[in-house]
Amino acid sequence: MKITVLGSGCTWTKELSTSFLINDNFLFDTPQGSYRRILSMIDLVNIHYIYISHFHSDHFAEIHLILEKCKRTNQKLTIIAPKGCKRRLFAMFRIFEIPHLISYVKKYVTFVTMKHGKTYQDENYKLTFYKMQHGGLLCFGCVFEEGNKKIAFSADTCMCASVHELLQNANVAFLDTAAVQPNFKHLSVKEVAQLQQMYPQVTIYSVHGSVDSWSEGKNICRFVHDKQIIKI
Ligand SMILES: [Zn+2]
Repeated sequence: MKITVLGSGCTWTKELSTSFLINDNFLFDTPQGSYRRILSMIDLVNIHYIYISHFHSDHFAEIHLILEKCKRTNQKLTIIAPKGCKRRLFAMFRIFEIPHLISYVKKYVTFVTMKHGKTYQDENYKLTFYKMQHGGLLCFGCVFEEGNKKIAFSADTCMCASVHELLQNANVAFLDTAAVQPNFKHLSVKEVAQLQQMYPQVTIYSVHGSVDSWSEGKNICRFVHDKQIIKI
């Protein structure tokens, strides 16, 4: 599995917010600025999946630009997201004065709704969803399975049972490490360092970094950087 880190930071940094491109065809989150980053790295006709972990703008804000581009070739897409995604998209299209995207989405986009413990599988991917704890929002991480490789993405989360479930079911994990102090929205650098000690069989990469967490965690966490390519 090829993981391209499109963005490695959180909103309040100079880096693009956390987002990934998997095997050049599966987009994981679409934060502000992601459209130009994607355009600079790949041809959008290759994108067949968009995963939206939750609806905060630093994970969702530029999906309409991806859809606009895909509409030009009537590209079929699968959008994997928490419930209510289609309703939110249509509201977004109204706000941005792009109602022509409604018919494209209705005709060419398939929606997969996440549920805790549910597995989605097709001829290309198998992934299982985990409901994370992110300030009370609906937010989902997942584990991809490819042969004997299992790769976990936490999306945004604080410490919770699902974080442990992800790590018990993965060889490699990408964990939210935005915080310095434990809180109800994000994992802290010390929590992630402790998780790495608890699960030495898992290679944990830190994502969603902040200026403070990069500074405090630089010697105890394995932070990724924008445009880094990780082959697993
Ligand atoms: Zn968030």
